[in-house]
Amino acid sequence: MERYDPQAIEARWQAVWADERAFETPNPSDPGNDERPRAYVLEMLPYPSGDLHMGHVTNYTMGDVVSHFRRRTGFQVLHPMGYDSFGLPAENAAIKTGGKPAEVTAHNIARIREQMLRMGWSIDWSRELSTSDPAYYRWTQWIFLQMFERGLAYKRTAAVKWCPQDQTVLANEQVVDGCCERCGAEVEARDLDQWFFRITDYADRLLDDMDQLENWPERVLTMQRNWIGRSHGAEVVFRVVDSEAEIPVFTTRPDTLFGATFFVLAPEHPLISELVQGTAAEAEVMDYVRRRSAESVADRMRDDRPKTGVDTGRRVVNPVTLEEIPVWVSDYVLVEYGTGAIMAVPGHDDRDHAFATLFGLPIRQVVSAADGEVDVQAEAYTSAGADALLVNSGQFDGLAVSEAKTAVAAWLAEEGRGETKTAYRLRDWLVSRQRYWGAPIPIIDCPSCGLVPVPDADLPVVLPEIEDYAPKGRSPLAAAEEWRSVPCPTCGAAALRETDTMDTFVDSSWYYLRYISAHDDTQVFDKAAVDWWLPVGQYIGGVEHAILHLLYSRFFTKVLYDAGFVGFEEPFANLFTQGMIYKDGAKMSKSKGNVVAPDAIVNRYGADALRMYVLFMGPPDQDKEWSDNGVLGPSRFLDRLWKAVQRIASEVPGEALPAAPSGAEGAALDLLRLTHQTTQRVTEDIDRRLQFNTAIAASMELLNGIEKARDELIGDPVGGQVLRHAAGTLVCLIQPFAPHIAEELWEQLGGSRLWESPWPVVDPALLVSDTFTCVAQVNGKVRERIELPRGLPNDEVVRLVRELPKIAEHIAGREVVKEIVVPDKLVNIVVN
Ligand SMILES: [Zn+2]
Ligand SMILES: [Zn+2]
Repeated sequence: MERYDPQAIEARWQAVWADERAFETPNPSDPGNDERPRAYVLEMLPYPSGDLHMGHVTNYTMGDVVSHFRRRTGFQVLHPMGYDSFGLPAENAAIKTGGKPAEVTAHNIARIREQMLRMGWSIDWSRELSTSDPAYYRWTQWIFLQMFERGLAYKRTAAVKWCPQDQTVLANEQVVDGCCERCGAEVEARDLDQWFFRITDYADRLLDDMDQLENWPERVLTMQRNWIGRSHGAEVVFRVVDSEAEIPVFTTRPDTLFGATFFVLAPEHPLISELVQGTAAEAEVMDYVRRRSAESVADRMRDDRPKTGVDTGRRVVNPVTLEEIPVWVSDYVLVEYGTGAIMAVPGHDDRDHAFATLFGLPIRQVVSAADGEVDVQAEAYTSAGADALLVNSGQFDGLAVSEAKTAVAAWLAEEGRGETKTAYRLRDWLVSRQRYWGAPIPIIDCPSCGLVPVPDADLPVVLPEIEDYAPKGRSPLAAAEEWRSVPCPTCGAAALRETDTMDTFVDSSWYYLRYISAHDDTQVFDKAAVDWWLPVGQYIGGVEHAILHLLYSRFFTKVLYDAGFVGFEEPFANLFTQGMIYKDGAKMSKSKGNVVAPDAIVNRYGADALRMYVLFMGPPDQDKEWSDNGVLGPSRFLDRLWKAVQRIASEVPGEALPAAPSGAEGAALDLLRLTHQTTQRVTEDIDRRLQFNTAIAASMELLNGIEKARDELIGDPVGGQVLRHAAGTLVCLIQPFAPHIAEELWEQLGGSRLWESPWPVVDPALLVSDTFTCVAQVNGKVRERIELPRGLPNDEVVRLVRELPKIAEHIAGREVVKEIVVPDKLVNIVVN
């Protein structure tokens, strides 16, 4: 008998798959594509930071199990891989070490590819792509121009969050407690010309089309819904006293309008300087505006954050009470939401209440609980329930909040002082970055023509070589003066290229389309082939991408659909989000220093053992705790599998997977049944539930069954075939998880090319076992369960059930009216 040597076996099969290009899949128009149904299995592409981590290993192994399973159940499987290779880390590494971002990236990709090959994933390497490759970003630029042509990409001045250390704009999510998430520097606010994608035009469709995403996790849909944040309310116009100016506010609580006792503008509000110009408050207000908070939106909205603010000395008129109320400036109001101004209702809003209390502003009650004392001076009363009724609100007194919302909004519309309105939390997507390592924005700024797109024939706009990648408050590309100066494509005058690059989320918003035509340099992708393969049948990735990446990808798909480039509106039919891996109680991450690299484990135990361990750790959608010894279990299992199958292969002649022999009895019949029950469980666990851990556990039980029955059955003609049938089946079932050892054992059993052999078929007759779990009910309520032999006479089943302690207790002293028996299923005892 040979010893199980994972290193030798894995290298051998990886070479076979590479030689045979075993996992390359043709497009519909290519030779080799046939009538079989299609399955596009996709995992989120990695950022090539240098090493695969266990999150990648888990993610890609899950996708690989699904790919193998689909391939063996009759599908043509597309399972590609690429690299999300633009971005700051490569650029920062280059600045630190003096290298070039392109070289750092190429080195990292080579390293990560090598690690991927060692894991034995069944990837179609012919479609490999990198988003930082000009052959790829040429089409990212092309898509940008499609957006530009349609008015969906535009440039405007925007208040942005700026990291003085990294010298770049930060997204809201990159600001934590007012500091840069990357370097910890205190973030500043700045006004800069920025490029945006008009994703807000798609807000309603992004929300409404979620109906089509039945096979997405509910929590992801909820997060996207909240992110888009559609709310219904009213826009109310406040007139500024002694001025022509009118300031609209959006409120979801128009019913509380009578309680608005002051008015607050966000520090970024464009009207502020005009309002205070030449007034006594000007200096103080403008100073506050300059020092305005650079904290993140989330921090500024926190209820417990100390409030700051300044009185402008100006007043606006409350449109219902006609009272003049003071206008303040405070950073708890966000320019990103609504109109950047609010009517403050301290009696019924917690943050307004805190602000009013701090600055001694009046608090007025306009909603009351029908049955209780409410003291709004002490605390805001925020209930909007059915028992919350309007008070101190003129003709609206006595209305419930929900009725009052409609009534007040209708009244405002009639009076011309407002209208019902829908507002969104979603803002347009800021896509420009003042950094080097990204796709250049393909626009030329001409003094007479304005912003002119780079002609298609001149794409890609290739990143120029520059000397210094360090940011200095402007894009590093601005230093490449020769590259930057170009004649205007329209009028020929001297013009300048855009020097900002695109956010890397742009690159990853469409890569799943490019895999279809990864090397086509004549078009972005082949529409017919894309429409044939997509939507993606199974998409797998971390839940941390629930909002941005998935929302942006959905937006891109809708834009491309509207432009006629794809025939579907949602890119991912099924989404699975995996849990995170923790070690020593913390999420595995470089900064925590608790990352486990796959190499050491693969060197010692083999890729098959690691693949099995990451899936055996727990339910795939939940967070899991890594244990360094955890791989021992799967490793020992594979060693036992190796010995058990080898012995059967050498001692029992026959096919790799012979048909189930007839005439099996006793231990042979038990093993035959266990084999088919296991096949059934593994099939369902992979196919419908992606519950890989339970599929592996079931396979382990089948190995126990084989070992237990082996000595008794191995010499017997029928028993021997049952053993072979069980061993061949087990090798088949374990193949998606541990493909190398499975291929090797399959060959020893006399088979070949297991990766494309059909999946074992379940014989329903063999799923039946000799016992069944009888459900015992009293008056239709389940009280007990009992394991009983099949085929017992009904009165015997009833007798056994009535003897159960819980049943006896529930029928004691009562008259039994009826005993209902469903054979081999349940007994229901009906009592008075
Ligand atoms: Zn920073
Ligand atoms: Zn021009």
